[in-house]
Amino acid sequence: MAYDQENIFAKILRGEIPNATVYEDEYALAFKDINPQAPVHVLVIPKGEYVSMADFSANAPAELVTGFIRAVGETARQLGLEEGGYRLIANTGANAHQEVPHLHYHILSGRPLGPMLSR
Ligand code: 5GP
Repeated sequence: MAYDQENIFAKILRGEIPNATVYEDEYALAFKDINPQAPVHVLVIPKGEYVSMADFSANAPAELVTGFIRAVGETARQLGLEEGGYRLIANTGANAHQEVPHLHYHILSGRPLGPMLSR
């Protein structure tokens, strides 16, 4: 699947659409989800054109893979989530209901989240 330059997260990365940033470095941008599913719901996206985890894991340079994963952990750390815990979700493709075709990790927390899947 080719990367769509007009996807909503590409526009956020280019600064064309506002976002509520919670963390940013040279590898990643983390911002609040517009439709939160938990008291804390943050999205972390790599600064690069990767459709999904499938694309990123196969094609991203090692420095970006490392930097992105560190940024996910650092975002959670800065949000104070390590003690209580948090959930990471990276929906990938149709079965996972991925809606935005730019890799993103959801960080969910702020209350006990229950079992991993609702059904
Ligand atoms: P997916 O279903 O692809 O894993 O998750 C996409 C997420 O992006 C959803 O949780 C949705 O609420 C969020 N989202 C969609 N459009 C925007 C937007 O314009 N801004 C922000 N901050 N989040 C968005």
